[in-house]
Amino acid sequence: MSMNLVTTLYLIASICFIQALKGLSHPTTSRRGNLFGMLGMALAILTTVGLIYKLGAELATAGIGYVIVGLLVGGTAGSIMAKRVEMTKMPELVAFMHSMIGMAAVFIAIAAVVEPQSLGIVKQLGDSIPAGNRMELFLGAAIGAITFSGSVIAFGKLSGKYKFRLFQGAPVQFSGQHKLNLVLGLATLGLGITFMLTGNLGAFALMLALAFVMGVLIIIPIGGADMPVVVSMLNSYSGWAAAGIGFSLNNSMLIIAGSLVGSSGAILSYIMCKAMNRSFFNVLLGGFGGATETAGPAGAKEARPVKSGSSDDAAFLLTNADTVIIVPGYGLAVARAQHSLMELAEKLTHRGVTVKFAIHPVAGRMPGHMNVLLAEAEVPYEQVFEMEDINSEFGQTDVVLVLGANDVVNPAAKNDPKSPIAGMPILEAYKAKTVIVNKRSMASGYAGLDNELFYLDKTMMVFGDAKKVIEDMVKAVE
Ligand code: NDP
Repeated sequence: MSMNLVTTLYLIASICFIQALKGLSHPTTSRRGNLFGMLGMALAILTTVGLIYKLGAELATAGIGYVIVGLLVGGTAGSIMAKRVEMTKMPELVAFMHSMIGMAAVFIAIAAVVEPQSLGIVKQLGDSIPAGNRMELFLGAAIGAITFSGSVIAFGKLSGKYKFRLFQGAPVQFSGQHKLNLVLGLATLGLGITFMLTGNLGAFALMLALAFVMGVLIIIPIGGADMPVVVSMLNSYSGWAAAGIGFSLNNSMLIIAGSLVGSSGAILSYIMCKAMNRSFFNVLLGGFGGATETAGPAGAKEARPVKSGSSDDAAFLLTNADTVIIVPGYGLAVARAQHSLMELAEKLTHRGVTVKFAIHPVAGRMPGHMNVLLAEAEVPYEQVFEMEDINSEFGQTDVVLVLGANDVVNPAAKNDPKSPIAGMPILEAYKAKTVIVNKRSMASGYAGLDNELFYLDKTMMVFGDAKKVIEDMVKAVE
């Protein structure tokens, strides 16, 4: 395989990745985006395997076996995990994948530092690695290590399954934490520069150890509710780690793919911060959310009266409305009630009710979660509206049906400057003439806060699992 051909194929793969990102930016084109991504990755892998052959018979015979075994093991594990994972568990899977990318960057950097001749960085064993390469290896390894340990903590916090203190949703904070992080950051930088200038292996090893510790310390003070931004930030880090390693290996594909992941992750973090009305700095240093306080009957923190009704009552209100806005949230995904919801929306539309769906950018547990959920049930895209496009309509809407959503409709974000979610834009469901809220109890949502919407005079709570409640509504509408 000639070098020109390798470059051309890498260029085509890069174009596929750009098309993938473009496609993934909208639900209607996301399938096509995914196909482009798969095509680009297949092309990149095949071209790299061809490049290994080109590098010499010795590498080709000794290395290719490992590459194929690695592809088979990694590819099989990845496919099984992706097939099995529930959509609500997707952020954990993404955090896990990021940790793998981070660790891969660390392993490659260690291999390159210990045996630079095997990776073509120097001509023969004993030659010292050029300072420029040492800098790239330092950056790739440090970012990779931070990504790995940070993603492991994010995985633990998102899964909520482990008793280990650092894996709890609540922020872990102690005095002098930010100063300690600063000192560690400066020490890591100092050791990296020492390695760059002298090639000292001890400095490299110590720098890696500090970077692993830093990854943990950066993520533990962040509360569960900020994990979406953190996962997307770690996504960005994993891309930059890959790009750094790409420079060391002189592999243009890795540089381009890493930069695309790095910059798209950074842009997504920015968009999400904007959606929560928080600065990136505030997310990293804020220690917000995660306390799982509950209120009302379930949590018995404070038994305030609420109006509650049955599915039949809700169906009566819905069928008598002219306009209905449905607000889906995390609970709808947990209940897997999207198909029943589609049936309910169809039946209401058939009876002349105008039905719209309102999506909050951080509803659910991952960016675009609700879009994917509704797309699965084949809800027509023209009925689905983003927050900024529909918020002005709540005031003129007869009934808002809130299904398994809580934080994203919590008026405290607007009315209570002391609330941890103060300033976060919300779907203004409280402005509608009537509000129906379905959830199983009065328990709080992800941010651990009570919700004033549930206690309004115009609000009717319908308690129960979303799937059962919606199925009963469908029957009642019939
Ligand atoms: P919330 O987590 O605020 O609330 C979900 C509600 O669903 C809960 O109050 C729960 O109440 C209810 N629920 C759970 N299971 C069921 C069920 N089977 N049937 C009916 N109801 C159910 O969800 P939102 O979507 O409103 O907000 C998302 C939150 O998650 C935000 O705080 C956001 O910052 C955060 N987040 C977002 C991510 C993203 O990228 N989108 C990622 C990680 C966190 P009950 O137990 O009483 O049923």
